[in-house]
Amino acid sequence: MDNQSKKIWLSSPHMGGKELTYVTEAFNTNWIAPLGPHVDNFEKDLANYSQTSYAAALSSGTAAIHLALILLNVQPDDFVICQSMTFSASANPIRYLGATPVFVDSEPNTWNMDPNALEEAINYCISRNKLPKAIIPVHLYGMPAKMEAINQLAAQYDIPVIEDAAEALGSTNDGKACGSFGKLGVLSFNGNKIITTSGGGALIGNDAELIQKARFLATQARDPAPHYQHSEIGYNYRMSNVCAGIGRGQMEVLNDRVAQRRANFQLYAKAFQELPGLEFQPELEGSFSNRWLTAITVDPKQSGGVDREKIRLSLEKQNIETRPLWKPMHLQPVFSSFPYFGGQIAEKLFENGLCLPSGSNLNSDDLNRVITHFSSVWQ
Ligand SMILES: *Cc1c(COP(=O)(O)O)cnc(C)c1O
Repeated sequence: MDNQSKKIWLSSPHMGGKELTYVTEAFNTNWIAPLGPHVDNFEKDLANYSQTSYAAALSSGTAAIHLALILLNVQPDDFVICQSMTFSASANPIRYLGATPVFVDSEPNTWNMDPNALEEAINYCISRNKLPKAIIPVHLYGMPAKMEAINQLAAQYDIPVIEDAAEALGSTNDGKACGSFGKLGVLSFNGNKIITTSGGGALIGNDAELIQKARFLATQARDPAPHYQHSEIGYNYRMSNVCAGIGRGQMEVLNDRVAQRRANFQLYAKAFQELPGLEFQPELEGSFSNRWLTAITVDPKQSGGVDREKIRLSLEKQNIETRPLWKPMHLQPVFSSFPYFGGQIAEKLFENGLCLPSGSNLNSDDLNRVITHFSSVWQ
């Protein structure tokens, strides 16, 4: 045991260098507020990078999903279809509005929303005389979901898609940016994401009116009047100009971060290719994942008894952080009473899956330490 070694984190913030310059500029010009030139410029950077026309910078990715649902007029007792295999933030805002989440299983090729189970879920809602108000697919760990099939069903039934690309900034499908496939796309800049503003998010899309409305709702829904006048319920969801300064610096190094995380994945894939029972999250042809987190599954029947908990605990002893894959929402106590469609793909992924240290700031000593201790679990 080597507890004296420095902690290796799953995914930690990685500043590029210019962030502090932008933050200092915010201080020097006294733009210390949830608006200002950094917010405007960060929004332009995000829209450009994500191949969308508009972006609204917000206080979190969760806020972006909440606003997206409000913009699509989700009411209490409406249905919203959501990928089950995800972080709870994808689904919580459905409940903020009192609507009913309908969870959908993953398929094995991307670990994301299974289009067949999606169609079952849509038909369930229709059998209850209600078209779902939205579909929320997720690009898990950066891996693009099967957006073509999902969008085709969405178009067929005329249901808007809110694309949860919180983990997928820098990922593409046939060259098209994740976040740009849906009617609205969601990004997150939380501390553990591929780039960070310490905390923050964005709503992106091509509909000028929707994104403008998101900015309006995010700043307390103030009507144009010299006094404070409100005809709608508003929210305090705007991004601070200080945080947006961090974001501008991070955008300048985003492509490097994607390259580094993909290199981490390649290194692990090569080092572990002989280990029996181990598989990596697959990347379909035409897909390009930012590999935000390198995610694996281990089948104890093929690995000679090694399972994900054995790996996790062995690495924890070495001061190396790993994490089980997201526990599916339909298995969470808080969501277990809501409808679910599909089989046991997500459940099995959770049972056997683990995320490895994936930060863009891991050096080769760190990565070698992970590889050595990981491999030794098989011995
Ligand atoms: C991080 C994350 C979010 C929420 O983003 P926050 O900025 O932390 O609110 C939403 N969905 C997924 C899949 C995420 O990983």
